Amino acid sequence: MRILVIEDDCAIAHALCTGLRESGHAVDHLSDGRQAALGLRDQAHDLLILDLGLPYLNGDRLLNDLRKTDNNIPVLVVTARDSIEERVRILDLGADDYLVKPFAYAEFAARVRALMRRHISQGTPEMLLGKLRLDVPGRRGWVDSHELDLTAREFGVLAALASRQERLTSRSQLIEALCDWSEELTDNGLDIAMYRLRRKLKDSGTSIRTVRGLGYMLEVREHAI
Ligand code: CA
Repeated sequence: MRILVIEDDCAIAHALCTGLRESGHAVDHLSDGRQAALGLRDQAHDLLILDLGLPYLNGDRLLNDLRKTDNNIPVLVVTARDSIEERVRILDLGADDYLVKPFAYAEFAARVRALMRRHISQGTPEMLLGKLRLDVPGRRGWVDSHELDLTAREFGVLAALASRQERLTSRSQLIEALCDWSEELTDNGLDIAMYRLRRKLKDSGTSIRTVRGLGYMLEVREHAI
């Protein structure tokens, strides 16, 4: 998943970005509100972590503008503002969850997983495709009861394709889902991940079809009994 962290406190931003990257996510970071408004226009992110007190443009204004333009990206607000009135106001503005600083990283990570379950897996903790079972927030996959040994990149490719099952995903959509702004994924890098992933999925009852010039599609060949 690709996550955008908007936070002007360097230490907090560093801790959040590092933790999320270690969990296998692609993470972009912006520290001022004006940049963030521009960064959000491309809508390539799956989740937004939003601080409220930001230089140039506050997080509540950003949130309000997002929802006014019908951008439904899940938003987890992280802020030192802890009054009940403020929490209610921010949730009513369209935040999906609210975490008061200081917080433990473990709680932050659990809230990120919960938001992903609600918004990306439509409330179900696991997706079932053929004999393949995926826990997208937990970043694990199984064929029957055998757990797949997938790298972060392979899991990213699989999760991106699974979320658009039976629909085409272009190479550029895949690269957008997998890479943050500081990273580059070469065509060759994507081909290698795709090749290895296909081998690992050979007994899964699913296959990744290449539609030349257009992209890839995850298809279910065989359903679980
Ligand atoms: Ca701040």
